[in-house]
Amino acid sequence: KMNTDIGQHILKNPGVAQAIVDKADLKQSDIVLEVGPGTGNLTTRILEKAKKVIAVEQDPRMAAELTKRFQGTPAAKRLELNLGDVIKMPQLPYFDVCISNTPYQISSPLTFKLLATSPSPRTCVLMFQREFAMRLFAKPGDKLYSRLSVNAQMWAKVDHVMKVGRNNFNPPPQVESNVVRLTPKTPRPQISYDEWDGLLRIAFVRKNRVLRAAFIGTNSVMDMLESNYRTFCAQNDVQLDDGPVDAAAAESMEVDEEMAGEDEWEGIMDVDDEDDLPDFFKEEEARKAAKRQGNPNRKRKGKVAELVRSKVLKVLEETELIEKRARMCDEGDFLKLLYAFNTEGLHFA
Ligand code: SAM
Repeated sequence: KMNTDIGQHILKNPGVAQAIVDKADLKQSDIVLEVGPGTGNLTTRILEKAKKVIAVEQDPRMAAELTKRFQGTPAAKRLELNLGDVIKMPQLPYFDVCISNTPYQISSPLTFKLLATSPSPRTCVLMFQREFAMRLFAKPGDKLYSRLSVNAQMWAKVDHVMKVGRNNFNPPPQVESNVVRLTPKTPRPQISYDEWDGLLRIAFVRKNRVLRAAFIGTNSVMDMLESNYRTFCAQNDVQLDDGPVDAAAAESMEVDEEMAGEDEWEGIMDVDDEDDLPDFFKEEEARKAAKRQGNPNRKRKGKVAELVRSKVLKVLEETELIEKRARMCDEGDFLKLLYAFNTEGLHFA
């Protein structure tokens, strides 16, 4: 019996299975990563076209079935089956192409993982639930625009391949699906994935906040930038004046947290990005809760904090993005922002 809780909707239409594999334009020399092979409906077609399939399957029963299906066939030697959760693999093996009828619960982390893979694969053909697929295409201002949209379009060309109705699966899922193709840009944009994504995570924690609130108005973000700035200075022999600030400056630095506007924080959530809030952010939430209970466990701000704060202000003002909301920023805005931050010695990773 299928366990639908872990996204096991087996594709039963052979025409769709063949179309997915055809869209990958496989070469005889290709190594293909297949995530969630299940009973092997795609696997068998991939093995006809490619040199090797590296399959990652979490469910031991499915893995056993897959092994049985190919046992004793010439293709068996070209199938490498890894039992486990693909998201927990610290490093993906080398592959040219990824093909997956993606288990819906890992759509987001798998996409990020594929986009971060360097060297980039040549292409990825992936089946997703419709709403998730639409997020990959969303543009600034669209309701579905998120960190996922920005990242997908930054690192890859995103094409729609086809719609796939629920009845092509057994058991049928709740919603319709779409096959999309992510073709990583070549050459890969010459920026650090971790720096770029680190910036986006902050901007998109609440995508409807203005960037002033996301950065200057959020103490945990300022603390993280200060800490990274100290590391940067240590590595680059920059001397820092590390004394305490005077009372007036400390006062002015306090005010900013109020500027964040607590009510702007509530309500408009980017549900998907909420899953992986940065750790420093969770700490901030805990600290705020403590503060509300009259226990202000606040760090005393020093001159370095003040310096960092003035740098952040300068970046946001000079890029003219200080009053802009993440949901309205395009790739160019974020690139401009990252460049300006890095120029000031401010880093996100
Ligand atoms: N490829 C098959 C097909 O198209 O008929 C099955 C697709 S089914 C939607 C998703 C498969 O991914 C299931 O076999 C499930 O056990 C597996 N799976 C779920 N989560 C996984 C994970 N985190 N890592 C690897 N495989 C996973």
